[in-house]
Amino acid sequence: MDRLCTRTIHELRSLMDQGACEPRALLQELLEQVERLNPTLHAYVTVDAGRLMRQLEQRLRQGPRGKLFGIPITVKDNLCVQGEETTCASRILRHFRPPYTASAIERLTQEGAIIVPRANMDEFAFGSSTESSAYGVTRNPWDLERVPGGSSGGSACAVAADAAIAALGTDTGGSIRQPAAFCGVVGLKPTYGRVSRYGLIAFASSLDVIGPITKDVRDCALLLSVIAGHDPKDSTCAPVEVPDYVAALQRPVKGLRFGVPKEYLIEEGIAPDVKAALEASCGALERLGMRRVSVSLPHTSYAVAAYYVVATAEASSNLARYDGVQYGARAATDGGSLLDMYQRTRADGFGTEAKRRIILGTYVLSRGYYDAYYLKGLKVRTLIKRDFDEALASCDVLICPTSPTAAFRIGEKLDNPLQMYLSDIFTISANLAGIPALSMPCGFTAKGLPIGMQLLAGPFREEVLLQVASAYEQATEWHRRKPEIRSCSTSR
Ligand code: GLN
Repeated sequence: MDRLCTRTIHELRSLMDQGACEPRALLQELLEQVERLNPTLHAYVTVDAGRLMRQLEQRLRQGPRGKLFGIPITVKDNLCVQGEETTCASRILRHFRPPYTASAIERLTQEGAIIVPRANMDEFAFGSSTESSAYGVTRNPWDLERVPGGSSGGSACAVAADAAIAALGTDTGGSIRQPAAFCGVVGLKPTYGRVSRYGLIAFASSLDVIGPITKDVRDCALLLSVIAGHDPKDSTCAPVEVPDYVAALQRPVKGLRFGVPKEYLIEEGIAPDVKAALEASCGALERLGMRRVSVSLPHTSYAVAAYYVVATAEASSNLARYDGVQYGARAATDGGSLLDMYQRTRADGFGTEAKRRIILGTYVLSRGYYDAYYLKGLKVRTLIKRDFDEALASCDVLICPTSPTAAFRIGEKLDNPLQMYLSDIFTISANLAGIPALSMPCGFTAKGLPIGMQLLAGPFREEVLLQVASAYEQATEWHRRKPEIRSCSTSR
C-alpha cells in the first residue's frame, strides 16, 4: 500500500472510515517525510513535531470528529495561529506569537483537522518565487535548481512532495495559482470575500484571499466548503450562502462554454510548450462536450502596471504598523531616540523586496502623485473588471495558462524585479476583478516540469470552476505524476 502521506484527504477519509488508517500513524508518516525532505526542500520554516503530536492527542481525546478529523493541514506562515510563532517569513515578525487564530484555520479545527503551521513564503507574500523569505529559499520538488513559485511556494512544494496532505495559501496576485502550477498541484483563489481574511496578516487588503492548495480537485472542493462563508469578524467577508462544492463535481460539463481570451495567447514571452499544453487541454475540454468561444480582455496589457500600483499602495499602508513597538522584533536603540528605534527596526527587519514596495507604495500615494498613479490604477482596475463581466457574459469559464513559463531557475529573476513582476501577467487580473480562479496540472515541458492551466469564472461561481476542473482531471492523468526527489541525506 502507498504510504499514507501520499494520499489525498478524501482517500484518507475513506481509509479511516474503513478502519485502515489511524490518525497517529498518518501524522507519524507525514512527520517522517518532512524530516527526510525539509532539509533539502525547505518547504517549512520549521516544524515542531512535539507540538503536533500533542495537538493530535488532544484532538483524539476531545474531537471534534468532523470532515477533517485527524487530517493534518499545512498553513502558510502569514496565517495566525494562536500561540504559534507566525512571521510572514520576515525578520520583523520574528518571535511574534499571535493572540488569536485566523478564522479559516478555526474552521479547519472545528472539522477536526491537525494544523501544521509555518509553510515558507516570500516575505509578506511579496514575490513569485519564495526567494524573498528571510528564512531561506524553498526548492521545487521537480527540479531542485528551480523555484517552487510564490508567494505560497512552501505550501505548494509541501503538497507536491507529499510533505503535506493539503495546504492553505494566500493569493493577492497569483500566490496560490502560480506555485500550484510550478509544483504540479491544484490551487484555488476564491472570490474576494468568499473566505474570511480575519487573522491573515495583510498584504493588500482589497486583493488578498485565502484558498486551498491540494493534490486533486476533490480535495480542493472539500477544503473550500470548510473555509468558505460569512464571518462577522471580517466586514469584507460576504454573507453569501456556501453551496455544496463537492456535489458540484458530479455535474456534467456537456454544453458548457469556455472562452479563450485572445490577448492571452498572443502575449509575448509565453513559452511554446505552455502554449501547446493549453491548446491540447482545450481539445480535451471540447471532447468532453464543451464549446469553445473566442473572447477578448482588451485591457490585459495594463494589468501588471495597475496591480503593482494598487498592491504596493496598500502594502505600504499595511506595513506601517511594524514599528518595533506592537509586534515582533525591535532593534537595539543604544540610547537613541524613538525615531532611531523605528528606523533601525524597519531597516533591519524588512528585506529588499519589502523595502522596494514600501517606497513604491508610499510614492504612488503621496500628494502630487496620487492622481497620476494611484487613482489611475483604480480606474484601470474598473476597466479590467468590466472586461471580465463582458467576456463571462458569453461563456461559463475562461481558460488560459497560469503562468507564461514553467518554473524558472533560482536566482534567474532576482536581480530584475520588473521581469519577476511580468511573470504574474495571467494571474493578477483575477485579483483586480475579485473573481475566482483555479490552477491545475495540464501537461509537462520537455524537461519534465509541470505546466498549469487556469480556469476563471464570475464572482461566487467556484462551483463551475470545480465542475469543469473535475471533468478535465478525470479525463487526464497529469495529476497522478509525482516528482522523484533526489536523496537529501548529505544536506542534513
Ligand atoms: N507575485 C505577486 C506579487 O509579488 C503576487 C503575490 C501574491 O499573490 N501574494 O505581488
